Amino acid sequence: MSDLFHCDSDPGNRPGRYAPSPTGRLHLGNLRTALLAWKAARDRGAPFLVRIEDVDSGRSREEWVEVQLQELRLIGIDWDGEPVRQYDRHGHYRDALQKLESQGLLYECFCTRAEIREAASAPHGELPEGAYPGTCRDLTEAEREDKRAAGRPPALRVRSGGATVGFEDHICGTVEKLLDDFVVRRNDGDFAYNLAVTVDDADQGIGEVVRGADLLDTTPRQLWLYDRLGLEAPARFSHVPLMLGEDGERLAKRHGAITLEEKLASGMTADEVRDQLLTSL
Ligand code: GLU
Repeated sequence: MSDLFHCDSDPGNRPGRYAPSPTGRLHLGNLRTALLAWKAARDRGAPFLVRIEDVDSGRSREEWVEVQLQELRLIGIDWDGEPVRQYDRHGHYRDALQKLESQGLLYECFCTRAEIREAASAPHGELPEGAYPGTCRDLTEAEREDKRAAGRPPALRVRSGGATVGFEDHICGTVEKLLDDFVVRRNDGDFAYNLAVTVDDADQGIGEVVRGADLLDTTPRQLWLYDRLGLEAPARFSHVPLMLGEDGERLAKRHGAITLEEKLASGMTADEVRDQLLTSL
């Protein structure tokens, strides 16, 4: 089965958004992505929303929420309404899981990370390296009972049926991905990013998703979810280049001043940082 989504159309005045995870200070690459998302929305006269992606309860910290919002304000970004918190939206994610469940699209997966790594390193037809090979897809109810009794909490995966999902990214062009059975609820009980982001972008009526190119690969999974959940997908996805250090590697501490705070401490103004970021592409 191959699904091609033609989602490179005009988002009109449907909102744009930036969705930081409160796991630390935003670095300059995050701020550049945020500026591009904000500018794209404002240039077409659309609302701009900020959503706090604190769905990963182990890594999210309350103290970073206000720090990140302040960094966004300092760099000149404004937004409409109060930022939405994923923490407040668990009921919506549960409803979405229910919808998938009622279509027979979910199964429990008891594999540990190590087991998945091992199984995924063996060749499995066309599936890309690291993809989940479907170990728990066809467990019998008795086998599942055994695993539950052994005390392993299950994650929930979708039956993607080996679908290939393609779409037209506004910046990166055609992207195609053979889906594996990806996780929608983790075995620690947290909802997975792909589920939450799909439900949220749909509920907020997002017209254009502007985000870092490191997430390009996640979009086919989300498009599959939009389709199965009967939700309207954003009109356009624009995955912007990641900011790299001078050595061409992904921005990291060893590259020197990589946060707004460090740039301000070095004597630059926030406006100068912003101008530098916007001309750095
Ligand atoms: N929360 C993600 C991040 O901070 C961004 C997700 C998205 O924009 O879809 O990298």
